[in-house]
Amino acid sequence: MLEKSSVAFLGLGHMGGPMALNLVRAGYRVAGFDVVPEALQAARAQGIPVAGSALDAVDGADVVLTMFPSGRHVLDAYLGGPDGPGLLAAAPAGTMFLDCSTINVDEAREAARLAIEAGHRSVDAPVSGGVVGAEAGTLTFMAGGDAADFEAVLPLLEVMGKRVVHCGGHGAGQAAKICNNLILGASMIAVSEAFVLGEELGLTHQALFDVASAASGQCWALTTNCPVPGPVPTSPANRDYQPGFAAALMAKDLNLAVNALDSTGVAGEMGALAARIYGRFAAEGGAGRDFSAIITDIRDSSSRHAQGQHGPGQHDGGDPAGERAGTQLPDRRTTTAHDDGSPE
Ligand code: NAD
Repeated sequence: MLEKSSVAFLGLGHMGGPMALNLVRAGYRVAGFDVVPEALQAARAQGIPVAGSALDAVDGADVVLTMFPSGRHVLDAYLGGPDGPGLLAAAPAGTMFLDCSTINVDEAREAARLAIEAGHRSVDAPVSGGVVGAEAGTLTFMAGGDAADFEAVLPLLEVMGKRVVHCGGHGAGQAAKICNNLILGASMIAVSEAFVLGEELGLTHQALFDVASAASGQCWALTTNCPVPGPVPTSPANRDYQPGFAAALMAKDLNLAVNALDSTGVAGEMGALAARIYGRFAAEGGAGRDFSAIITDIRDSSSRHAQGQHGPGQHDGGDPAGERAGTQLPDRRTTTAHDDGSPE
């Protein structure tokens, strides 16, 4: 059991800062560190004990918890480089390496392999729930690793989250997260397209919602995060699409899903298309908006298309979906993405 153990918490950004603070409040001995001085100062000001370097933080820690932007950051920190040794070499044998970043499945497996090879223990435990969940201690953790290692980190994860699921061996936490977000991204696009089509066909938002939410179109993207204002008063559409779950993060997670589709050879055309649609939306100014704002992009593309064909406001509805502006099916060979492609 690693209950009330000492934790080196590395990466005190939007998520890591409040997660570390919850550990401090719960009585864990935390030594925080971030390479960005402002993040370090902000953490210190909030009452998180900080160290002078990552290696200082790791010294004497039972758990090394990383909360970094990408897998490259995790592997680089583990391995070190010309400037000095990495975390794996610096930590005493048997240290628990707990990575909560969202990274490629292959990178998570590689990180675990390296940690175990260096004589340590390893669990990947990416989260969902966003900054609000991190602050409130209500995150969901999806964990991958050996059963004994999962049991060891469970008390610590339960301080920062309200739901912790052991998904399988190393990398399984990351796998569960990207598979879920593939469903979420694709279903949000489908729900948004249906609402825009409904508008063109003369359906009110409420009528479509009342039917689909009680029929086979029912899904979280519709009933909780509804992309039009009105039917679900708490959805981001009612507050000009302030996130919520930012489109940049959806684009990042879908890119990770595409990488996994490519590495496994799974014919995931829907996931690849969703990644492309969100990648474009994030790059063209939507990065900081809730991912349900994709409906505005669909609406804009639709009216541009109609104007180009027939003049303003007219639609004949007869064009194949694949010819609509910006929604051509991607060439799978060109959709490979990288996990650090998002501006987050
Ligand atoms: P962030 O960019 O705010 O924080 C990451 C921090 O890691 C930065 O402060 C950075 O300086 C620091 N860092 C990078 N390399 C480091 C190193 N070697 N040593 C010490 N610090 C280092 O990102 P975030 O929003 O906190 O997200 C962190 C992770 O959580 C990402 O993988 C993200 O995909 C995932 N995530 C984020 C959210 C969200 O809503 N923000 C939700 C779910 C999952």
